[in-house]
Amino acid sequence: MSTLPSLEQLHAIGAKQQPTYDDPAALAAVVDRLRTLPPLVFAGECDELKAKIAAASRGEAFLLQGGDCAETFVDATADNTRNKLRVLLQMAVVLTYAASVPVIKVGRLAGQYAKPRSSDSETRDGVTLPAYRGDAVNGFDFTPESRRHDPQRLLDVYHASASTLNLVRAFTTGGYADLRQVHTWNSEFVRNSPVGQHYEAMAAEIDRALTFMKAIGADPDEFHRVDFYSSHEALLLEYEHAMTRIDSRTEKPYNVSGHMVWIGERTRQLDGAHVEYFSHISNPIGCKLGPTATADDALALAAKLNPTNEPGRLTFITRFGAGRIRDGLPPLVEKVTAEGVDVAWVSDAMHGNTFEASNGYKTRRFEDVLDEVIGFFEVHRALGTVPAGILVENTGDDVTEIIGGGEQLDELGLAHRYESVVDPRLNRVQSLELAFQVAENLRK
Ligand code: PEP
Ligand code: MN
Repeated sequence: MSTLPSLEQLHAIGAKQQPTYDDPAALAAVVDRLRTLPPLVFAGECDELKAKIAAASRGEAFLLQGGDCAETFVDATADNTRNKLRVLLQMAVVLTYAASVPVIKVGRLAGQYAKPRSSDSETRDGVTLPAYRGDAVNGFDFTPESRRHDPQRLLDVYHASASTLNLVRAFTTGGYADLRQVHTWNSEFVRNSPVGQHYEAMAAEIDRALTFMKAIGADPDEFHRVDFYSSHEALLLEYEHAMTRIDSRTEKPYNVSGHMVWIGERTRQLDGAHVEYFSHISNPIGCKLGPTATADDALALAAKLNPTNEPGRLTFITRFGAGRIRDGLPPLVEKVTAEGVDVAWVSDAMHGNTFEASNGYKTRRFEDVLDEVIGFFEVHRALGTVPAGILVENTGDDVTEIIGGGEQLDELGLAHRYESVVDPRLNRVQSLELAFQVAENLRK
């Protein structure tokens, strides 16, 4: 691994989806400040996650990656963070218990503040302003002041991420994630739904098993705490570069703003600045692959991003859409496997299934999400390869952003509680429903 290129060198290569700041001196001061701030994660933790993803790529574990499409500063509250953690713990316990496989828990949180957009601007009632690019860049309010690209926000990203991660670490090691809490993770709202009752029945079985274990004197540490990792799309070069540090143990660069970082569908150009940057860091990394990706693209990305073929280093996160997964995925998996390339295959069944509802809301059909996940499992089963995990956009709140599912939310119902600032998320009931369905597929 050669030395990390400078920010200037990366910009010279050409980076897509970057903010346009109007005050270079202010930006430089922010980057200098970021470089002095402590790491949010340790390189050793990143290596630990890499080893776990390697296990997932061999079918010995399953990766569950979930959280908001875009975090916001106002929502970085204790309640929100707890609710997000809670739904991921519930999903994980469903997968672990129903499929008897260790689940690697990775949040799309504590850093998921920058968004690639398909258009640079947005027009409302004849007024055109810069598009919202995530709280890391500008504000969601539709005013010229709010939509201005403000470098100070990068420092806010750091501080919001630090407080979220601190809380997550406290929850996951301080008793909240204790398996004996498995019932309390189920709220009143969820308990009254069919899937909530399914969950309660499973939780009761887990309780009995725990009581038995305790009676025979077994009470391992794993019952009381969980390992939880953070992840985000590493999009903004200034932030990600400033948060890249040389690890004193290995003398290699790590992005210490999150355990796992990924390259988005819009920035995965082989000769682009993002792929170049990612090729120099030692974290476990993801790379999205959409329907336009060819098998040769996948091979070239793997050669550049993981030249030593290190297990667990590279995760391909496929997001084809329910209609294309069964035809589009096999050629990629076949060729990558035939070449002996070591990757973990993860299904993002969200981003290929987004559409605009008749009342203007950006939404997805729960049935499409489920169908893409099932298609993903079918493809791997047919090829004898390993489905290593799923990535979801979800929330711990009872929002109404995705239609369908057991609650049969319809387009009209979207208006009831639509809170996402970018993409629609599975609510708690839908998240649990998906987890039970995935568990069934994993068991097959
Ligand atoms: C995302 O994960 O929110 C996202 C923007 O995905 P993609 O890069 O696959 O479009
Ligand atoms: Mn999204």
